[in-house]
Amino acid sequence: MPRVTRTSAPDARARVIFRRLRAEYPDAKCSLTFRSPWELLVATILSAQCTDDRVNMVTPPLFERFPTPEAFAGATQGEVEEAIRSTGFFRNKAKSLIGAARCILHEHGGEVPRTMKELKEVPGAGRKTANVVLGNAYGIAEGVAVDTHASRLSLRLGLTDTVEPVKAERELMAIVPRRMWTDWTHLLIAHGRAVCTSRKAHCDACILFDLCPTGVQERRRSARPARASRG
Ligand code: SF4
Repeated sequence: MPRVTRTSAPDARARVIFRRLRAEYPDAKCSLTFRSPWELLVATILSAQCTDDRVNMVTPPLFERFPTPEAFAGATQGEVEEAIRSTGFFRNKAKSLIGAARCILHEHGGEVPRTMKELKEVPGAGRKTANVVLGNAYGIAEGVAVDTHASRLSLRLGLTDTVEPVKAERELMAIVPRRMWTDWTHLLIAHGRAVCTSRKAHCDACILFDLCPTGVQERRRSARPARASRG
């Protein structure tokens, strides 16, 4: 088999990238805490423009106060706003949570649906949220969740050529094998937090350097002495 390098086809690179990241971050998984599909749906809606750590601080008292979709559906906007205020955009999020609870109660018999089509119609749940819930609560891969880390890394790795999430997802689905879709996001998030951060790509310490077209450009730009990549 020819060696896969940064100039290899995107699908060949994607497989090697996955394997390497899997070895580097064997425990990478959804960092939102949840006990049910409903709790994951709520946590994912709250995670928009907010860190997962913050969401994980807010959800335990939130679910103690509103333990079920019924409880959310019967809450006032003000009550929910107060409970989620620190996650930001709390007015819209409270509206989404109450709307989602009512939709799930009235349209889906109290169960979070298991298809992309149905989930996308739940208030507050776009395609990314649907992918997170389907993949992590139900083990169903209908797409690739593209969050800010997955978007940035896919672009830097030359696997996508857009920051537009739906288009980026389509490009990733074409090159990443389906069985890897859910973990793909977790692994890119782990690497995006540890090495290829939004503030700086630490290319000299990156296990993907030899597979990444951006890494070599960054190295030339910084003109620092090169360190051999692991591979
Ligand atoms: S080589 Fe640099 S740009 Fe590429 S993934 Fe690694 S840290 Fe990010």
